[in-house]
Amino acid sequence: MPDIQLLPIRCKDRQILRKIQQEVSQTFPRFSCSVGPESGSLLNGCFDSNRNQYNASILLQNIANTVASSLSPDYFLGVTDADLYVPELNYVFGLASPSIRAGVISLNRLKPEYFGGRPDAALYVDRAVKEAIHELGHVFGLSHDRNSDCVMFFSNSIADTDRKSREFCSLCRASLENTLHL
Ligand SMILES: [Zn+2]
Ligand SMILES: [Zn+2]
Repeated sequence: MPDIQLLPIRCKDRQILRKIQQEVSQTFPRFSCSVGPESGSLLNGCFDSNRNQYNASILLQNIANTVASSLSPDYFLGVTDADLYVPELNYVFGLASPSIRAGVISLNRLKPEYFGGRPDAALYVDRAVKEAIHELGHVFGLSHDRNSDCVMFFSNSIADTDRKSREFCSLCRASLENTLHL
């Protein structure tokens, strides 16, 4: 059984990793899901001091170079507290590449406190699970969906994340079943 390995990258919150692990296992029942060792060194070379953020593309490349070898049947999802960006956007919730079988999500902007709200553990978990499943959808070859209920809808803001479900719509699900034989 191929494994989806969650890689904590400067992520101390083991509880959120376990929650993501549970949901990923349910969503992708033909895969095991494990939590790897803390891999904070993957952030080396990613920090941009002008933006005070980390470059998600470089981080994804670091994951590819160190763990996501093309010979491995496994898939990787980095989970980091670091705030991520790509040059053309102010920030990203995550990034993924099917060719390197890896993705990454940032938890930084998912806590309600980030936007001045009250702490809400359930909401935080819900957002993290949606972003994790979204990036894994990309890892497995799915593109963005214009259906705003589908987990593959592009989140331009946290409101988009809150509005969409954590499920693949029937079309995305069918496409996944085709490629993954779920
Ligand atoms: Zn996306
Ligand atoms: Zn869809």
